Amino acid sequence: MIDYHLHVVAHGDRPMTVENILAYCAVAKERGVLQMGITEHDRYLDEIDLAAFQEAREKTGVGLRLGIEIDFVPGKEEPMDRFATALPYDYVIGSVHRVDGEEVDRATDQKIYDRYETYDLYEAYYANVRAAALSGRFDVLGHPDLIKIFRRFPQRDITEMLEETAEAVAESGIVVDVNAAGLRKPVAEIYPSRKLLEMFHRRGVPIILSSDAHAPSEVGAGYKQSIPLVRDVGYREVVTFSGGERGTLPL
Ligand SMILES: [Zn+2]
Ligand SMILES: [Zn+2]
Repeated sequence: MIDYHLHVVAHGDRPMTVENILAYCAVAKERGVLQMGITEHDRYLDEIDLAAFQEAREKTGVGLRLGIEIDFVPGKEEPMDRFATALPYDYVIGSVHRVDGEEVDRATDQKIYDRYETYDLYEAYYANVRAAALSGRFDVLGHPDLIKIFRRFPQRDITEMLEETAEAVAESGIVVDVNAAGLRKPVAEIYPSRKLLEMFHRRGVPIILSSDAHAPSEVGAGYKQSIPLVRDVGYREVVTFSGGERGTLPL
């Protein structure tokens, strides 16, 4: 198994030391995670310690990979490109956290959900998801339906919106992040939903698996639900990355 989206520095919670990386690796090993990808948020780029990463990679039995999670913001192409090329990553994740520059996943400030009609907010969110996928900047599309995080669902049916998004994602060739962090949020559901995951699978969109851990104890968290889900939908393998090379591992 792999866990390809997680944060050691997290939100500045701890430095990227060999010891801290190895604490994540220890849990990975315990839970059968063969490859672990560290993908800090782009704003913590300066906290990524390449020397510590390399030393930890030599010391651990877990296959360590380096990525980054870039916050996709239309109009911020220059900084996005700078983040995406700053270090020798194995892969780059692009995630949509914002509509009109404002975060949609901030537990302490959900005002954006009151300011917009929920359906319109979803439209704007998925437009950004399609743009992120089609931008060609990213190897992986992070948590593709994050907008459901607080269970603020539109009254109207969004099937068509999701189909259109799945179509763009398939066309782009990007890999989708099946991210178990949603289980720890009010929505209590994996990103993407089963419905959206089925749309991806029908179109041959490949996946990675992740916990989006922000602490060692969260490595591989939620896999008891995400592995049966992806298998049940029909997936039999996950994508791996190593120095720009793409491979697969059986599920
Ligand atoms: Zn994210
Ligand atoms: Zn993340």
